[in-house]
Amino acid sequence: MKYDVVVVGAGPAGSTAAKYLAENGVPVVLIDKAEFPREKPCGGGLPTHVQKRFPYIKPLIDSISYGSITYSSSLRYKHDFIREKPLLMHVLRKDFDNGLVNLAIKAGATFLGGKTVIDVSIKQNNASVLLDDGQTIETEVVIGCDGTRSVVADKTNLSKALETLCITLVQEQPLTPKQLDKYFTKKRLDYLFIKAQGIAGYGWVFPKKNCVNIGIGEFQSAIPKSKPKTPLRETYDAFIAVLKEEELLPEDFPIENLKGAVLPIFPLENTYGDRVILCGDAAGFINPITGEGIYYAMASGQIAATVIADGLKTKDLRKQFLSRYQILWNKDFGKDLKLLGRFNNQWGKNSEKIVRLLTRDKKFAQLIFGITGGQISFSKYKNALILRFIYASFKNFFIKE
Ligand SMILES: Cc1cc2nc3c(=O)[nH]c(=O)nc-3n(C[C@H](O)[C@H](O)[C@H](O)COP(=O)(O)OP(=O)(O)OC[C@H]3O[C@@H](n4cnc5c(N)ncnc54)[C@H](O)[C@@H]3O)c2cc1C
Repeated sequence: MKYDVVVVGAGPAGSTAAKYLAENGVPVVLIDKAEFPREKPCGGGLPTHVQKRFPYIKPLIDSISYGSITYSSSLRYKHDFIREKPLLMHVLRKDFDNGLVNLAIKAGATFLGGKTVIDVSIKQNNASVLLDDGQTIETEVVIGCDGTRSVVADKTNLSKALETLCITLVQEQPLTPKQLDKYFTKKRLDYLFIKAQGIAGYGWVFPKKNCVNIGIGEFQSAIPKSKPKTPLRETYDAFIAVLKEEELLPEDFPIENLKGAVLPIFPLENTYGDRVILCGDAAGFINPITGEGIYYAMASGQIAATVIADGLKTKDLRKQFLSRYQILWNKDFGKDLKLLGRFNNQWGKNSEKIVRLLTRDKKFAQLIFGITGGQISFSKYKNALILRFIYASFKNFFIKE
């Protein structure tokens, strides 16, 4: 078998890359170790700018949230941010990812499900991947979209030790539309629990059309050294108990099908090499404050497709040419990710004040939700946010509890 491009991994990064390449008339194969549709542990929350950039995902949206309620760690402060316009879109990853694969196939990509890539070989004039069934696929270039523990990154010496991770637990549980309306209203309000149970991260509750998605995530780099280690499973059980106490879940809500997963939270130094490019989680494109990565996966897949289509035309897929991929993603979203990374350690610090300020200063809240929701760029609004934080802190100083 021979294709101009082999895309390894059919998550949002891989399907997007394959779709754009196929639309450019490039012979491309998209390979995934799973048969599709497949489950993927995820919150499935999409900031609205995902649909703005990729309007074709609209039919794949499960539900829309028009607001969020944020609790401080002690539950003492609670901030309501409810609006007329959508705040966050919700997807079911099984359907969303399958829909994206189908769009890539419709554009002309070949899909091979249930095939694991076990080796990648890069030569001067071509490349190849070896599948677990013994088949070899020859190609001009390989795109590694195979997630956190990327085989492509490993075999092409682009991976580094994964020290900076977010460790997560997530559960997606059916609820009736009547129950969902009762607990989360027709506006499908999302709930965020900052430093839930004291973790250096947060807990979330995303109500969807026929189910609720609940999870917790802890940023390892933000855990204070003095903090005693608590197994995340214990924290999750305690979190569910709090949700019941707050009357956000029925008393008989079960903990089942709980899944664990890890996320890399800083981009790799090099996301390209001779005849290879990495996208999405494989490249470490995760928002280091929220843990969200679908937007960056799709955006990097789109950028990779553009660069590779150009490289195929000029028959140049050497490292020097592919370096423009890194320049483009850096310009597109990389600066924001790196800047946000500097604030990642804030998760380990006192978050009470932030939630208190949210409740007391509307403009501060708008900036925070605009940035975390992806509607405004952090690098552009960083100074405005810092100034507003200082102003809100000063104002708050004179307010009695
Ligand atoms: C608990 C949790 C909650 C999250 N919540 C959100 C959220 O609310 N919003 C958001 O935007 N992001 C969220 N994320 C992050 C998001 O899930 C990822 O950023 C996103 O899935 C990255 O897409 P991807 O295409 O790079 O990789 P993936 O979606 O991980 O896809 C990788 C694919 O590669 C395949 N694969 C792996 N190895 C091989 C191999 N050797 N051969 C062939 N195929 C292979 C896998 O089967 C998989 O299908 C969350 C993550 C977790 C863990």
